[in-house]
Amino acid sequence: SLLPIWTPAVDLNMSDEKYDFDFFVIGGGSGGVRAARVAATFGAKVGLCELKLDAISTDHTGGMGGTCVLRGCIPKKFMVYAGEFTDECEDAKAYGWDIPQKPTLDWKKFIGKKRQELERLSGLYKKNLTSAGGQCFQGRGHVIDRHTVRVNDKEYKVRHLCIATGGRPSKPPIEGKDLAVVSDHVLDLDELPKKIVIVGGGYIACEQACIFHSLGVETHFVFRQDYVLRGFDQECREFAQQQYSVHGMKMHPENSPSKIEKVDGKLKVTFEPKKGDKWSLEGVDICLLATGRNAVTKGIGLESTDVKLDEKGGVIVDKHSKTNVDNIWAVGDVTNRIPLTPVARMEGMCLAHHLFGPKDSKTQVPDHDVVASVVFSSPNLASVGLTEEAAIEELKDFEVFSSSFTPLKQSLSRKDIKCLTKLLVDSKTQKVVGVHMVGAEAAEIVQGLAAAIKAGITKHTLDITVGLHPTSAEEFVTMW
Ligand code: NDP
Repeated sequence: SLLPIWTPAVDLNMSDEKYDFDFFVIGGGSGGVRAARVAATFGAKVGLCELKLDAISTDHTGGMGGTCVLRGCIPKKFMVYAGEFTDECEDAKAYGWDIPQKPTLDWKKFIGKKRQELERLSGLYKKNLTSAGGQCFQGRGHVIDRHTVRVNDKEYKVRHLCIATGGRPSKPPIEGKDLAVVSDHVLDLDELPKKIVIVGGGYIACEQACIFHSLGVETHFVFRQDYVLRGFDQECREFAQQQYSVHGMKMHPENSPSKIEKVDGKLKVTFEPKKGDKWSLEGVDICLLATGRNAVTKGIGLESTDVKLDEKGGVIVDKHSKTNVDNIWAVGDVTNRIPLTPVARMEGMCLAHHLFGPKDSKTQVPDHDVVASVVFSSPNLASVGLTEEAAIEELKDFEVFSSSFTPLKQSLSRKDIKCLTKLLVDSKTQKVVGVHMVGAEAAEIVQGLAAAIKAGITKHTLDITVGLHPTSAEEFVTMW
């Protein structure tokens, strides 16, 4: 509903009757729906197929809205919010509130409300697309050839085809891996486990470990590096990890699971540390393998075209999201570019403009440079631009401004909760080239600074900006 209403471009050449659709999308996630919806708004005849259209499945497959809405960002954020009340209660007590009983969470009630909301959001995705004039089909899309897609028993002739099938969690080849679950599962549990093992050191593992720990579950966080979140700024990685341990989580760096087995109805997980002897955890309710995701390119008939895949199975595309086959395009996680919802949306939006938009927007390409991202762990780690390690590689001379402090709110309660703010500035241009923050609300703060970096903000502009006091965010305008 926020999309502008455009006048359809005049050179659409859509009267070509040999095609049932000008644009057909396989996959109803963030990228696919955005591409389809904007294309329909431009007047293109649009079709989209998705495994499930109307209800959220219990087998964690399909559904309008895709991973983000049903098995990713949105349910995860609800769980983050649910867990934050634990800390709020701690802080409240320190502020003098009398909380006579230990607060308890009615998990079934929470999960029920969460499911209801996801169902509503998923419905909106379908409604918004159909309101824009697109047609939705329930079923697996199968590419027959570059201009033909089969959904269920029916074949459709399509002028442009867009692959937007997303990604799926992958499990490493560990003995007994079938006993472990992936993130789809832990975002929709009927019951809260008592003891959980979380394997992996990336976004999903950090977020889920913090969530389950905050919900009072005995959480064992196991990762193979010395620090979590490889690829993020090293100082931030170390700071975040130290803060996770302040919260009391059990962390096992430099460890990998080698075997998962069932013992007396529970799981026993055996680990091989980088140094030292094998060891095991018993009585485990859930073992989550959060060890990365793979593009979904198998089982959709892509092999019947010449579409090229990269070594990890993702669709290779050019700057306009075009594959090596002229009328086949791909957006979102299936392309192995940056697997984030807003990036998929941007790719979908640009593709629709490129194919069907007004003449002056046809050259619009997705900009994958300086994309902000956040790990919704406790505390958040939000980041945009260069890390200090990347700056060493890419810049001749740069300055680092870094500050750690106890946020005002916690100065009356949990004093060991700290916040880190960090700026990287190119010495030659004085432009801010990196912003990093570990702390409460880091995501909300770094979003604004990401726009500032895009606009080419200099350190001087930050320095002459008057802060909002008292906040953690003001630290960024007082870093001398
Ligand atoms: P990531 O790629 O972020 O992390 C994978 C982790 O698994 C790494 O720590 C990796 O370790 C570890 N790993 C890989 N293989 C093994 C193995 N065989 N044994 C032990 N550890 C292993 O993947 P995620 O699954 O966490 O997330 C997938 C993507 O989803 C992310 O890239 C992100 O873009 C997106 N996402 C974004 C979120 C957000 O924006 N807040 C939230 C959740 C997901 P190593 O570093 O050693 O390779």
